Amino acid sequence: MNVLANDGISKSGVKALETAGFNVSTDTIAQENLIEEINKQNFEVLLVRSATKVRSDIIDGCPNLKLIGRGGVGLDNIDVKYANEKGIEVINTPAASSQSVAELVMTHLFSISRSVFDSNRNMPNSSNGDFKVLKKKYAKGAELRGKTLGIIGFGRIGQFTAQYAIGCGMNVIAFDPFIENISIELKIANQTINVPINMVGMNELLSSSDYISLHVPMPADGKAIIGDDEFDKMKDGAKIVNAARGGVIDEDALLNALNNGKIAAAALDVFTGEPSPRLDLLTHEKISLTPHIGAATSEAQDRIGTELADKIISRFG
Ligand code: NAD
Repeated sequence: MNVLANDGISKSGVKALETAGFNVSTDTIAQENLIEEINKQNFEVLLVRSATKVRSDIIDGCPNLKLIGRGGVGLDNIDVKYANEKGIEVINTPAASSQSVAELVMTHLFSISRSVFDSNRNMPNSSNGDFKVLKKKYAKGAELRGKTLGIIGFGRIGQFTAQYAIGCGMNVIAFDPFIENISIELKIANQTINVPINMVGMNELLSSSDYISLHVPMPADGKAIIGDDEFDKMKDGAKIVNAARGGVIDEDALLNALNNGKIAAAALDVFTGEPSPRLDLLTHEKISLTPHIGAATSEAQDRIGTELADKIISRFG
C-alpha cells in the first residue's frame, strides 16, 4: 500500500511503516497537482499536517483514497464529515504534542516575567550607554514561584501545563465547564504525587490569577473567550498566554488592555489571520511571540509519526 506524507513525517514513522511493508513518499506535492499525482502513483493513504488542505475536490477526485491522517490535533484543514460520508477514514494524533505545547507555555511565562523577549529584541541594537538603560527597563521582574496561574480549558495541554507550573511552585486554578473535580499526577524523583486542582468559575479565575493561560478549542460560534469584559475583570498587571487558537482572544481587546496598562504583558503562539498576523501585535513591546510552534519539537514529531504509523498498521497491516 502506498502512503503519501505530503507535509512530512518523522523518520521513526517512516521506519515503522516501511518495516510493516508500506511504501512511503515524503515528497511534497503542490496542492494543485495533488489529485493527479495521488491517482497516478496510487496513494491510498494521505498524511498531512496543517499545510495541505484536504477538501471535497481531493476526496471526490481520488476514489482510491482509503484513509486521511492528520499529524497533530486540529482537523480544520480536512473536510472530515464529507470524507467519512464517502467512506474515507480520518485519523489524528491529539495527545502526541500536548507536553511540547505545555513546555512552550512555560517558556513564555518565564520570558514575560523577566522581559527576556524584549531584551532579546533591544540588546543587539544597544550601545554601551544603552546597557544601563535596558538594565533599568527590565529591573522589575517577577518570580513565578508563589504566583497563581489560571488555566482556561483543562484538557490534555491544560493539565500538562499545570504539572510544570506546580513543579515551579505556582498555585494552579482552572476553569473548564466540563470538569468538576480533578487531580493531576506529578512524577518527581521516582515518586508520584496526586495534586488536587482547585476548579473555579470563570469570574473567579479572571479576578484571582496573576497569569492566565488558554487551552480551549475555538468555540463553534467563533466568538472570542477573552474580550474587553474579561480583561476588565482581571487583576491589574496580570499576564496572559495564548497557545490555543488565534481567535480565542479578541486581539483588539488584547491591544487595548496592554496599551491602557490593565495587563502587563502577553505571549502569543497563535494568531487570527495566520500566516499573516497583524503588524501591531508583532511589533508590540509587551508581547512575546512565537509563530505557532507549540508542537514543533523533535520529540512531539516522533510521537506523531509513530502514532500515525501504529494506527495505519493496525488498520491495514
Ligand atoms: P482538549 O480537548 O484535551 O482540551 C480542551 C479543554 O477545553 C476540554 O477539557 C474542554 O472541556 C475545555 N473547554 C471547551 N470549551 C471551553 C470553554 N469555553 N471554557 C473553558 N474550557 C473549555 O484539547 P488540547 O489537546 O488540550 O488542546 C487545547 C488547544 O490547544 C486547542 O485549541 C488546540 O487546537 C490547541 N493546540 C495548539 C497547539 C500549538 O501549536 N500552539 C498544538 C496543539 C494544540
